[in-house]
Formats: sequence, C-alpha cells, structure tokens
Amino acid sequence: MTTSVHRIQSLDAPAHTAVVIVGAGACGLTAALTLAHLGKECVILERDAMPAGSTALSSGFVPAAVTQAQKTQGIHDSADLFANDIQLKARGNASSLLVKAYTEAIGPAMDALSIHHGIPWQVIDTFLYPGHSVHRMHAVPEKTGAGLMMRLQNAAESAGVVILTQARATDLYVNHADKALGIGFIRPDGRLEKLSCEKVLFACNGFGGDADLVSDYLPQMRDALYAGHIGNDGSAIKWGRQLGAQLSDLGGYQGHGSWAIPQGALITWALMMEGAVQINANGERFHDESQGYSEAAVHVLTQPFGMVWNIFDDQLLKFAQDFPDFVEAQAAGVIRSFKDIEALAKYIGCGAKKLADTLNLVREGEDQQTGRIFKRNLSLPLHAIRVTGALFHTQGGLDINAHCQVMRPDASIFPNLLAAGGAARGVSGNDVWGYLSGNGLLSAIAGGYIAAHTAAE
Ligand SMILES: Cc1cc2nc3c(=O)[nH]c(=O)nc-3n(C[C@H](O)[C@H](O)[C@H](O)COP(=O)(O)OP(=O)(O)OC[C@H]3O[C@@H](n4cnc5c(N)ncnc54)[C@H](O)[C@@H]3O)c2cc1C
Repeated sequence: MTTSVHRIQSLDAPAHTAVVIVGAGACGLTAALTLAHLGKECVILERDAMPAGSTALSSGFVPAAVTQAQKTQGIHDSADLFANDIQLKARGNASSLLVKAYTEAIGPAMDALSIHHGIPWQVIDTFLYPGHSVHRMHAVPEKTGAGLMMRLQNAAESAGVVILTQARATDLYVNHADKALGIGFIRPDGRLEKLSCEKVLFACNGFGGDADLVSDYLPQMRDALYAGHIGNDGSAIKWGRQLGAQLSDLGGYQGHGSWAIPQGALITWALMMEGAVQINANGERFHDESQGYSEAAVHVLTQPFGMVWNIFDDQLLKFAQDFPDFVEAQAAGVIRSFKDIEALAKYIGCGAKKLADTLNLVREGEDQQTGRIFKRNLSLPLHAIRVTGALFHTQGGLDINAHCQVMRPDASIFPNLLAAGGAARGVSGNDVWGYLSGNGLLSAIAGGYIAAHTAAE
C-alpha cells in the first residue's frame, strides 16, 4: 500500500481534531495521555484492530533516571549519569541534544504516567542491565511489554482518549509552506477517510517490517528474523522522504543475539550477564557476551548456520525463572538439559573434547580470548537453548530537535510536524553496537511526553 504526501491549499475533511497521532504504541499512548492531562484534544489513528505494536512484543523494560520509584527503592541516579551511559555505549555518536532531552524528560514522564494515570512502576534491582551504572530499568508488575500495553490502554480509556483502530494512515496533506493540514487513512472496506488537524505526531515506529528498507539501510540484517511488529513498515520515513525531511542514523538498530529457534521467543540477556555463555556449532565461544545483546545479533549471525547455543547451569536457570518471558519460553520447550559435556556436545554436534576445553576456560577471572570477566565457572548439569540473531527494531528515522519537531536538512523545522519513538532518530548512533538496553522505550516514552508538550503549546 502506498504512502503519499499531497500538496494542497486547504483540506476539506468531515472531522477535525487538534492533534492527530499516528500509531498507538507506547509513544502514541504516552503522548495522548499527556495531551489528555494538559486538556488538549487528540485522535490516535492505529492500523491494527487491537493496538499492540512492538511495545506489546517487547519485554517492557524502561530505563529512567530520578523517578519516584527509584527514590522509593533508595536508588541514587541523575539524568547526567544516564546520558553518560548512553554516550559511552554509542561511543559518543548519539545525538547529544536528544540524549539530553530524553534523559531529562524520562523521569517526569514516568512519574506523570504513575501519578496521573495509575501506571505502577517498579525498578528491577536484582540485575544490572548491560551498560547502566545504576538500577534504572522500570517495569510494570507483569514485567512484560504486553502488561505495559494493557496498562497504557486502560489508562487511555479512562482518560477518554479517542483511538480509531483499523485506520491505516496512508496520506499526508500539507500546504505549500509544508504545514500539515491532516491525514488520510484507509478503513477495512478500502475507503479513504480524512481527518484535518492542527498538528501531526508520527508515533508509528520504524521500518523493521519493510524488507526493502531493511535491505537498503541495514544490509547485514537482510536475512535476519524480524521480531518486532510487522505493521511498522516505515510510514514515517516514506512521508519524510517525500517531504524532503532530514533522515538520520538510519544504520542504527536494536538487534538481539538470543532469539530461541524454532520456537521464536526472546531469551533474556540477563542470563548472559550473570554468567551464561554462547557456543557455536564448532563448540567454541566467539565473543564477549557481556558487551550487550544488540551487537551480539551480528556476532551470532556470522557463526556457522547463523545459530548458536546459550549454555547455563542450574543456578542461572533459577535466576532466569524470575522473568515471566523466560518462564513462558521454558514452557514452550526451548530448554534441553544434559548431565555431562559429552551429551551436550552430541546435541550441539561438536567434538566433546573441544567443548570441554572451551568450558574449562569459563572460570573466575578474565578470559584471555574475549576479555570477558567471569565471576565463576558453570557446574553440571548444563542447560542449552538454541538461538539465532534477530532484528528487533530500527533506531534511525526522521531527524528531530529537542522538542520532537521534524527538521529539514538545513535544521529548520516543519511548522507542525512532530515525530518520536521509533519513527524518529534514536539515541543509539548509526550502528548496531550503539544501542544501550532500553533505548527503544526511552525514546518512545520520553519522546511521546515531550512531543505532547510541544503540541499543546
Ligand atoms: C522482542 C522485543 C523486545 C524488546 N524489549 C524492549 C525492552 O525491554 N525495552 C526497550 O526499551 N525496548 C524494547 N524493545 C523495543 C521497543 O519495543 C520499541 O522501541 C518500542 O516499543 C517503540 O515504541 P513505539 O510506540 O515507537 O512503536 P510501537 O509500539 O511499535 O507502536 C507503533 C504503532 O504504530 C502503528 N502503525 C504503524 N504504521 C502505521 C500507519 N501507517 N498508520 C497507523 N498506525 C500505524 C503500529 O501498528 C503500532 O501499533 C523490544 C523490541 C522487541 C521486538
């Protein structure tokens, strides 16, 4: 289906609203809840019958600094420390103005969702996510993305937010001064309906669901599984290209090196951070697993057959069972258990001596081959999960300023076009290794909150 920009003088539409938000994921819903609180009218257009987006598929962990939840749990943090962690991971390549804007806004955004809309956050303090200096990963009690979406949707319903489902936005109407006049959207019977507005917010995530765009911008992930929402097909980028908007960091994305196959389930990277290792079909380790799950996707995909095995012991199994997604994956039969290394080697299809030699090097201290620091060795029995690398979501998009206003290549802004979340440039730089855990929902929630304040002005 096409995505078009029409240049016209005025739009004759049967309905009008102040702000049209395209997409009802974490970004769109946060923006709509913020607008509702500010007393500003909006309508969300959502292509699906049931809003879900990548948010519902995610683990639902949101990094945030200086929140009420952190204070309650006695955790000291600051926006500056958080910004520093983001830039360390991105080796200084993340947009500094967005890093500052998002790390400062995310605390107030999370507190506002909690205070005004009843979203109960708790900080995960049993495990430090890779690259974060302090415990700042927040989750709802369900500890899943589906739980987060359910709570945001319930809050939206209570706040009287209008969400038009089965409304795929296809047409953007702008006048000759680049001012957005409204949006056209396709209904299930194929009819095009129009809604005029004063401002448009693109909250329709990135281009992971469009194979051609992935091929163009992320050739190394062309053949990788896409684990995000298939409806995120780059609508915002397609409109942006036609408008002559600046697109930035299109080579940035979140990969994940631990996607169980053939079941198709995310296996928490917490397992790796606490001591598990990845072994390829030759019985070898091939990277420092503690560096982060995003770049691990590329390391895994370059191994024989593009697949490897996560290896861990009983102590780690028990630890991982604290994550509901892991328990669900376990119920789906992802784990195989072995009482000795010979049986594990037979399952993997590698030599038993080679595997034993590899696992012997997993012991307290620094591993000379990869530089990883281990706290302890793994004990029998051992468990294995077969995984591959996957593309989770893209991090490049419409370039925006600190107010989430869409920019032209000369840094001037479009009069009333906003973008946030996965539709906009992220804070991970232009490559896979720049993604700090949680940058996705950080951009969605902080961006949605900022964009709503801009739209309300
Ligand atoms: C398996 C997995 C695990 C993840 N875990 C985490 C995590 O723990 N923490 C984290 O920070 N990030 C995580 N992420 C990334 C995170 O899910 C995304 O960054 C985040 O959900 C983006 O939010 P969003 O609102 O921008 O997009 P989405 O939640 O994808 O919402 C976009 C919405 O726009 C709709 N839409 C798209 N195009 C149109 C159109 N043309 N018209 C109308 N509607 C449209 C879609 O249907 C969708 O509902 C994970 C991703 C995956 C895939």
